[in-house]
Amino acid sequence: MAAKISVFIIVLTVICLGVAGFYFFESTAPLISPVHVPKSLGKNAHLQFDITDKGLGLKLLTLKIIQGEKTAMLPPKSFGSISPFKGSGILKITEGWDVSPKELGLREAKAKLCLEAMDYSWRNNTTLWQQEVDIDFTPPIITPLNAQNYLNSGGSGMVAFKVNEAVSQAGVQVDNLMFPAHHLPDKPVGEFATLFAIPFDVSLLDVFFIYAVDEAGNAGRAGINHKLFYKKPTVDSINISDGFLSRKMPEFSTRYPDAAGKNNYDTFLWVNTVLRKENNAEIAQICSKQTQEMLWRGVFMRLPNAAPRAGFADERHYIYNGKEIDRANHLGVDLASLANSPVPAANKGRVVFAGYLGIYGNVVILDHGMGLFSLYAHLQKIDVSVGQLVEQEAIIGHTGLTGLAGGDHLHYSMLVNGVFVNPVEWWDPKWIQEKIYDKLAVR
Ligand SMILES: [Zn+2]
Repeated sequence: MAAKISVFIIVLTVICLGVAGFYFFESTAPLISPVHVPKSLGKNAHLQFDITDKGLGLKLLTLKIIQGEKTAMLPPKSFGSISPFKGSGILKITEGWDVSPKELGLREAKAKLCLEAMDYSWRNNTTLWQQEVDIDFTPPIITPLNAQNYLNSGGSGMVAFKVNEAVSQAGVQVDNLMFPAHHLPDKPVGEFATLFAIPFDVSLLDVFFIYAVDEAGNAGRAGINHKLFYKKPTVDSINISDGFLSRKMPEFSTRYPDAAGKNNYDTFLWVNTVLRKENNAEIAQICSKQTQEMLWRGVFMRLPNAAPRAGFADERHYIYNGKEIDRANHLGVDLASLANSPVPAANKGRVVFAGYLGIYGNVVILDHGMGLFSLYAHLQKIDVSVGQLVEQEAIIGHTGLTGLAGGDHLHYSMLVNGVFVNPVEWWDPKWIQEKIYDKLAVR
């Protein structure tokens, strides 16, 4: 009997030790996967890792940066145990560290990032992850390549510049607008060009510079030599007749529930203010995705045999029964030809919008690359579809009077990065040569 009990106790002990060995002495070390680790660390950096463990869970994470003799320790992250036999139970965690290398006494040179993860196994399985990084506190140096820039309010501009190191972001800032830089394939590495817009209502540039941010997050700036010519928009009075309202307003009250049930006069005010704003926001949104490559070549084409009816940025005063009821700036050029005239693409580009767009009626928008777009409004008929690449002069639609148009005409707009610009500049071969191609020094 006693022998049987001893055998039973021995077997039980072996099983218990086996189980304990499996859980408490397991030998699988944690796994470290970097989520965000920049190649260079600037004054402030953020590092993030995914750490997983099998068994009793994670116990301790230690991050240090070693540079020569110096070791900078970051605050360790430890995880308490649920009970002496259960470990922390944390099998997967995402942890981040804010690192300020300068405050840690590190200098601008190579360094090694070391992250150690230890688990709750009684063996204390530990994984060491290491990676070399550059410590860099110096902002990039930007060299503008154009001596002088003559700009017009409501106009476009191009600047070329060089940056002495790899960048994560670069471009031109005009007040609170950012225009991204593009690298041209025929240019050396580190050389960029940015197409930008000066909004029509800007008469003085308070904030206007080239910016570049390196991979460590250091930001550099360079001023742009310029002369800005401001032209006050032409004032134009537009008579709103009851005939116009009864002809045009049903189009909007049918399409927009917000305009339904209003009388024609109130519908007009809603269309001219609320809808106009919404439509322009949608256009800016459409133009926020752009082709990097410059698809256009040379001068832009104007609707053939067409008379100008309204100019860019014209300040329109809307008059009803002899009283001014509203104001808006006209962000394009109106061109009138024969009714239903074929509309050619002003230059090579990709169709990014083809459909109905409120006050603009039936619209086609072409992406010409580098942030440049052209827009064709009030079309009777659209002859292209989204995604299509069209050559200059390809017929994309026919003129009409859809949207807020009193008569058959083409409303032609151009935009840089979603900002409306004066198309007249882009029709002028001398302007294109001097203000675009000479700046890029490509022909
Ligand atoms: Zn127009």
